[in-house]
Amino acid sequence: MPGPHTFTGEDLAELHIHGGQAVINAVLYAIGRVPKTRLAEPGEFTRRQMDGDLRRKFSDFRERLMTARAHLEAFIDFSEEEHLEPDILNKVKRAVKSVQVDLKECLTDNRRGERLRNGVHVTIVGEPNVGKSSLLNAICQKPTAIVSPIAGTTRDVVESAFDLGGYPVLLSDTAGLRETEDVIESEGVRRAVSRAVSSDLIVLVLDADQFTHVAPSSLDNPDSFIRSRLASFGIQPVENQRVTLLVNKIDLVPDEVAQQWRTSLPKEFIFLSCTTNTGMRECIGKLTGMVEELCGNPLVGEASLTQHRHRSNLEACAERLGRFQELLDSAEDVTLATHEIQQALRFLGKVTGHVYVEEVLDVIFRDFCIGK
Ligand code: GDP
Ligand code: ZN
Repeated sequence: MPGPHTFTGEDLAELHIHGGQAVINAVLYAIGRVPKTRLAEPGEFTRRQMDGDLRRKFSDFRERLMTARAHLEAFIDFSEEEHLEPDILNKVKRAVKSVQVDLKECLTDNRRGERLRNGVHVTIVGEPNVGKSSLLNAICQKPTAIVSPIAGTTRDVVESAFDLGGYPVLLSDTAGLRETEDVIESEGVRRAVSRAVSSDLIVLVLDADQFTHVAPSSLDNPDSFIRSRLASFGIQPVENQRVTLLVNKIDLVPDEVAQQWRTSLPKEFIFLSCTTNTGMRECIGKLTGMVEELCGNPLVGEASLTQHRHRSNLEACAERLGRFQELLDSAEDVTLATHEIQQALRFLGKVTGHVYVEEVLDVIFRDFCIGK
């Protein structure tokens, strides 16, 4: 499929093959022998798509500012000899203002795009033995964490980076949360709490037995139930942190009970068994949806900034545009104000690539027919 009307905008080849693991492995092996090929990193496709959208957006900002700058320079250089539009300054002001507004909008994106570059941090927490490590292994489909019936097996944070529905995820399994005399285990608990607090999404796991002992009335408001449960472990999620509850080991309760939970309780709760894989598909679907919300789906709505470096340059650019307005409004010093636009373009140029003097001259000649 030739670009640019593909997912990432690049030329794309898609292979439709038999789904068996042996076939997939053999095809990947064969592709891997082609020079200059490599596997995509987690979330790389989504990120490239987002980067393409951003590039278009920044080039648009840049073009608008180049035009403004060219008009200002024409105003400075030629206003006495040529008949320039009288309200050229007002026009420029409006154009710059609108770039500033669009830039600000781009900057207030809750850093969604940066998650797409760095990975969404998801942390699994819960008491010992509820199946946290089994869950990590099931989701990543590889045995990363040690699963055992002995409580306190996972003592440090175990991380796994993988791709969840096109989004990069850094999933952490943590030590079971409980009071303990064991020095190493209690350090593990401390790390579990601190990891949870700094993550984007906290997945609290209860096992079916624990869930049976929860008062049904406390489940009416799922979010506050989860948050108060987390608080009892010393985890205080902040406002923009997402939380979810997973009830594992439903194979251990009678089918009727599991069925009743699924149908009568709020949709926020996920019921599954890591042993029989019941509910695993729903679980992964739910987590994917939350991760997507945290990153922003590039196919829906606006692309968001994926790099911190871009953010700081765009902030500097917006600041210069603000100063441009001030200078023009208060001192009416067009030369000084134009300098701010040049600076703004310089910061924007750090994001898009570069700034050419020739382009300014092009606009001057095109828009004013000067020197022809
Ligand atoms: P963790 O301490 O929370 O990480 O729990 P583990 O993943 O190590 O699991 C603790 C024990 O529970 C192990 O013996 C697992 O095999 C078992 N286990 C995990 N998930 C399930 C499940 O869905 N059903 C049942 N019956 N046992 C499970
Ligand atoms: Zn564990």
